[in-house]
Amino acid sequence: MKISSDFDGGNIEVVEAENPSNIRLHIRKDNKSDFYQWFYFRMTGAKGQLCALSIEDVANAAYPQGWENYQVVASYDREDWFRVSTVYKDGTLTIHHVPETDCVYYAYFAPYSMERHHDLIAQCAADEKVSLHCIGETLDGQDMDLLTIGTPAKDKKVIWYIARQHPGETMAEWFMEGMLGRLLDDDDPVSRTLLEKCVFYAVPNMNPDGSRRGHLRTNAAGINLNRVWEDPDFSTEPEVAYVRGKMDETGIDFILDVHGDEALPYNFIACFEGVPDIDEAQLDLAYEYMEQLEKISPDFQTEVGYPKSAAGKGNLGMATNQFAHRYNAVSMTLEMPFKDTEKTPYPESGWSPDRAAKLGRSSLDALLAILPRL
Ligand code: ZN
Repeated sequence: MKISSDFDGGNIEVVEAENPSNIRLHIRKDNKSDFYQWFYFRMTGAKGQLCALSIEDVANAAYPQGWENYQVVASYDREDWFRVSTVYKDGTLTIHHVPETDCVYYAYFAPYSMERHHDLIAQCAADEKVSLHCIGETLDGQDMDLLTIGTPAKDKKVIWYIARQHPGETMAEWFMEGMLGRLLDDDDPVSRTLLEKCVFYAVPNMNPDGSRRGHLRTNAAGINLNRVWEDPDFSTEPEVAYVRGKMDETGIDFILDVHGDEALPYNFIACFEGVPDIDEAQLDLAYEYMEQLEKISPDFQTEVGYPKSAAGKGNLGMATNQFAHRYNAVSMTLEMPFKDTEKTPYPESGWSPDRAAKLGRSSLDALLAILPRL
């Protein structure tokens, strides 16, 4: 038997893998960073054997609360991901599983590979409503892809969606796949109406290098992109510098920055209460959006979320705060769980690519609902 992770998005270190009942693993840290939590690896040659895979030293991971009531995802074909029995005890996460085939993959959440990213971009670019701009390169030399949907015009609202600043939060790109699929569906009246009145800019993956390298939270230089929006440097965080440059050209009326949260078993939105000179009307509209999304999708809720920043104390290096401050945008961070939703659980898959994609679709209904006030 063998454990390996040298592929797109892979990440694990093998301590010991001689005996299937005592496999010992470590999660490799993000490059030039102390963050670690994302893992994705393959086990071959263990068909029909009861395997115990222990991922050690996870109490010091970025979000140890993320391991409580958490179940690892697995797949035989990298299409269908299911949850496997997982125990978190004494700082070790242990998977007990009997693989049905000689090739099984385990991950923190259903991966969204850079290869799938390229499929998504190519499929979107094939639609006549879409133009694709490579607005720059990452430190590893990958393209920063920006999709424009619809034709910009003075009387149209400017809508932005960005996702996956934190590369291990793969549910964010599954969300984008659902949203974009619906937005490009000519038979969908919500999408047609939105595109009559708005132009959309979408960056489905803000952090291609972290994604390919199998990082949790940072880019190739170990930078947490969601802290550098105030004064981005092309030499260390070109991803943010290029995207913010484009935003300065277009302005922003409404933006969703899409993430995953390791600890909380809820879908929720964080706003921009702490920014200086806050526009209360824009904040009210963000709250209205949250209420609309809650009505539309039972998977979304507004009761549990992050504590709000005190007035004037918001970190302007964070995307959502910077967008509200810089563009006076209705600006929100949408968070999805790695685990499952507390109020609408589906234990077989937990939170999943399909469910994230459906929430992405619902995000457009809620946008249409607030559009007259935007
Ligand atoms: Zn995040």
